[in-house]
Amino acid sequence: MYKTCQCGNVLHDSIIPNSYVFHVYADPEEWTIRKMCYLDSHYYEKLLSHRVAWHCEDCHRIYLWTNAGCRIFYFAGMKSIIPVQEYQIFVAMNDYQAGITGKIIREQGVETESYKAYRIYTDSEKNRFWVRCPKTGRYFEFRKQ
Ligand SMILES: [Zn+2]
Repeated sequence: MYKTCQCGNVLHDSIIPNSYVFHVYADPEEWTIRKMCYLDSHYYEKLLSHRVAWHCEDCHRIYLWTNAGCRIFYFAGMKSIIPVQEYQIFVAMNDYQAGITGKIIREQGVETESYKAYRIYTDSEKNRFWVRCPKTGRYFEFRKQ
């Protein structure tokens, strides 16, 4: 599938592995099952919903595809804290992170927290989300366009 980002960059998922297509799982419900998939492929059948996010590496827009269609988010700045009290957590991985995560989980078990994936926090309306920067601990804020 091809999509031209609003900045003009052409995004596509025809090359695997790639760094810009992210598979997104609700934590803990879907993420627990996804982790089990690394140990037993039969768990794939239990993954109920599927979300895929494409990251434009030129302008940092995020295109999130769900069963409800595609929503576009733009990078809105950095935060030192998440500015909402209640949020839902998701885990997102590109192909490279998924490969490393699978190796870690097979070696250390599904309880390990030392996997290579992004944690994403969304507000209740899902109009904003925050991705924690692993280097600085600050949060990249994205807002619905
Ligand atoms: Zn773009």
